Amino acid sequence: MTVEGSWIDISVPLKTGMVHYPGDTPVRIERDSDMAKGDPVNVSRIIMSAHSGTHVDAPLHFLEKGNSIDHVPFDAMGGRARVIGIRDQESIGCQELESLRIDSGDILLFKTRNSTLWHQDGFCRDYVHLSTAAAVFLATKGVKTVGIDYLSVGGYERNEMEAHRTLLEASIWIVEGLDLSSVEPGIYDFMCLPLRLEGAEGAPARAVVRPVSSRTPAL
Ligand SMILES: [Zn+2]
Repeated sequence: MTVEGSWIDISVPLKTGMVHYPGDTPVRIERDSDMAKGDPVNVSRIIMSAHSGTHVDAPLHFLEKGNSIDHVPFDAMGGRARVIGIRDQESIGCQELESLRIDSGDILLFKTRNSTLWHQDGFCRDYVHLSTAAAVFLATKGVKTVGIDYLSVGGYERNEMEAHRTLLEASIWIVEGLDLSSVEPGIYDFMCLPLRLEGAEGAPARAVVRPVSSRTPAL
């Protein structure tokens, strides 16, 4: 028997002044029309990088001729996913991954100590990142999607280029900026839909998971 729980939001709230990747345009959400100021309606204006908060990287982000975000295959953004708890405090490495049964077509969401960093105001440079060797390992396995709980899959001023390129060249879609703090490792239903920004290299997304647990039916 499969028992399903309720949906859990694993995207971070987009708001003015929230943490952003150094060099990217900060998030600003302002009212063009504001009923509190006597306007007849509320209308907001959004100014931000396409890589703000929870977002998806398309191959075009690092590959000149890569696919853009409007071509994201929906089966990479929805279906069964595994939330994997990472113990390493510095990086997601091959040693931890090799002890897991990772299969072709897997959607993997890595829960690291990063999920606690969302409480900090400023950008944290030493977030847990995917090592280049681990990226190669995942590419070799043929996984479909990799998600991580901070603003980049690669290490800041370390292996940004290598980690991204290795995954994207292997047609692995990358979800960044997840908040997995209220999600335990396990099997989940997963939905994540990046905005259909035509020709863009990435887009903000809403992402949710719902626990799936297998139980022997009670006799
Ligand atoms: Zn990105």
